[in-house]
Amino acid sequence: MTTREALFDDLSALLGKRGLLTDGGDMERYRVDWPGYRGAAPLAVARPSTTRQVADVVSYCHRHDIPLVPQGGHSGLVGGALPDADYPELVLSLERMTAIRHVDPINFTMSVDGGCVLQSIKDAAAAADCDFPLSLGAQGSCQIGGNVSTNAGGLNVLRYGMMRQLVLGLEVVLPDGRIYNGMKALHKNNTGYDLKQLFIGAEGTLGIVTGAVLKLFPRPQVSRTALLACPDIDAVLKLYALARRSCCDLLTAFELVPRTCLELAMEASPELRDPLETPSPVYVLMEAAASGPADLDAMIENLFERGFEAGALTDGVLASSETQARNLWHIREAMLEGQRNRGEHLRTDISIPISSLSAFHERASHEIQDLYPQATVIAYGHIGDGNLHFNILPPPGLEADERAALLHELEERLFGIVDDFDGSISAEHGIGRFKQSAFLETLSEPEYDIMRGLKHLLDPRCLMSPGRILPRPID
Ligand SMILES: Cc1cc2nc3c(=O)[nH]c(=O)nc-3n(C[C@H](O)[C@H](O)[C@H](O)COP(=O)(O)OP(=O)(O)OC[C@H]3O[C@@H](n4cnc5c(N)ncnc54)[C@H](O)[C@@H]3O)c2cc1C
Repeated sequence: MTTREALFDDLSALLGKRGLLTDGGDMERYRVDWPGYRGAAPLAVARPSTTRQVADVVSYCHRHDIPLVPQGGHSGLVGGALPDADYPELVLSLERMTAIRHVDPINFTMSVDGGCVLQSIKDAAAAADCDFPLSLGAQGSCQIGGNVSTNAGGLNVLRYGMMRQLVLGLEVVLPDGRIYNGMKALHKNNTGYDLKQLFIGAEGTLGIVTGAVLKLFPRPQVSRTALLACPDIDAVLKLYALARRSCCDLLTAFELVPRTCLELAMEASPELRDPLETPSPVYVLMEAAASGPADLDAMIENLFERGFEAGALTDGVLASSETQARNLWHIREAMLEGQRNRGEHLRTDISIPISSLSAFHERASHEIQDLYPQATVIAYGHIGDGNLHFNILPPPGLEADERAALLHELEERLFGIVDDFDGSISAEHGIGRFKQSAFLETLSEPEYDIMRGLKHLLDPRCLMSPGRILPRPID
């Protein structure tokens, strides 16, 4: 291990003055993430501006046994990017690598640096009359390298798939400092193992994503947003099946919003108004979009009719202007803020086969509410993907350790039910550090052996994001 002074000298020689932070105050913002969790003080923060510089820093760390953790936009929700408290780590931030390298509106592809903020990618695609469809609440700050590394999902998975389906090529700095250049803009490529897929969803444990070739789509010319009121989750699922069929595969989002979430949204954003006259137990926020002439109004009105006939729908509003559509989507954003304002709570992003969601929801809500009557369940999210944020707010006024113990108990109970339904404990946020012990319990021996083998092959010294996904040291 090298001394701190030698590390500072060597890294500033590699990165220049702007490329290295060593002062405690300067490094403060690299210790916190969006939910407000705080990591340890890093050894230093490296801010390379080119792939070559990333490779030089990683190679240096490899030679000197220095653990490091890549950071994007700090919007991850499982603590993966936070510096470790037990072993001081170097933070490697991609924030200076923000170039849009090339946009090809004929090939429908774009190549970008790993540190590009998602919103700037969406803007660049739109400027070329294309669409990059990944959409999520954190798009103003999260980076594409973070999106790739967490295999981000978001609102439009229903139509376009997750990040895994949106990446054609990757450039990755491997844990020994070598550069894997897979920046091919090919829609079809069947030559051997698909290596890029290894790094997608690897949460920085197998390498640092410094570049990506992304798949673009024709830019939607028309879109419609509606808020629909349903009597229960069963009705929501009935409506979902109707919507998939009656919207000619133009459905882009189908989000569950329970009444409790609407109330949290109105609490966080007092300018929001109850969108319908009579309160309903659950709502659906849905969107359909088309890149050419399509009568979306007629499709959605037809869905309203069929929904009413089937008893799946009690009321609804179809936004008649862009402002009204934006206001409806604002509910989705404000309810996240509303939850955050309620303090520490159990956040999950489980998935269940869509057809079992109603039975799962009923059993999980009853069990949790019977056991902990003062806890509040708020289950919302990408129901069209079978993905629910089944979150639980503990009763107010608990001491920190009481609250932590309760959240742990709630999580164990909930994940047990997820397992009974053959679901997944993470549909999109990943494992990081917070979900590791629960994740390890779900792994079969062959799964664990393959994952451990891959990690060992690429990072035998376990220096790259150690302790995320798999435990450190690898046994
Ligand atoms: C308001 C809000 C809404 C959200 N909604 C969604 C949603 O709908 N769907 C969804 O999937 N997620 C959602 N998220 C979670 C989060 O936005 C995503 O996980 C996002 O992809 C993380 O990107 P980031 O750049 O912020 O990564 P960070 O938080 O900085 O890092 C996340 C992980 O990726 C690793 N990493 C970061 N950059 C790189 C890189 N270049 N190379 C290798 N590893 C890297 C980090 O080490 C860490 O393990 C939401 C978060 C917030 C705050």
